[in-house]
Amino acid sequence: MSDCIFCNIVAREIPSSTLYEDEHILAFLDITQVTKGHTLVVPKQHFRNLLEMEEQASAALFSKIPVIAKHLKEQLGASGINLLSNMEASAGQTVFHTHIHLLPRFDDQDGLHISFDTKEPDFSALAQLAEQLHMEAP
Ligand code: 5GP
Ligand code: ZN
Repeated sequence: MSDCIFCNIVAREIPSSTLYEDEHILAFLDITQVTKGHTLVVPKQHFRNLLEMEEQASAALFSKIPVIAKHLKEQLGASGINLLSNMEASAGQTVFHTHIHLLPRFDDQDGLHISFDTKEPDFSALAQLAEQLHMEAP
């Protein structure tokens, strides 16, 4: 047994309610079900979080996300889906094996409230920050 709970789920050493599996990923229901159908999609290979994953492994994970999200939406009659991945404790990560949360939404009746505090835009600060953060395409 690994000391990583999601590696144990992938290895079927502990049970999970699995929806989808292929060579690279597993999708199973989150035990807490924040909304009905709350699903976790994980790579079979252990990575601490997305920040540790290179392009090929993350492509294998993300390529299936729209398919699984559409399936959840259709099967559950959801009106929308939120996607979330917490990276590191300060961002709320509690299980340190990469996982994508898919949260089906049911209009205003699902009890989940996600909101951003909006601020007035400071365009010169935005331009300066974009310059600092600019990335060259490979
Ligand atoms: P995080 O806070 O790291 O983004 O999310 C971890 C998630 O894993 C939580 O939503 C929690 O409910 C879920 N979780 C923790 N342990 C288990 C488990 O043993 N089985 C399942 N299915 N989900 C788990
Ligand atoms: Zn793991």
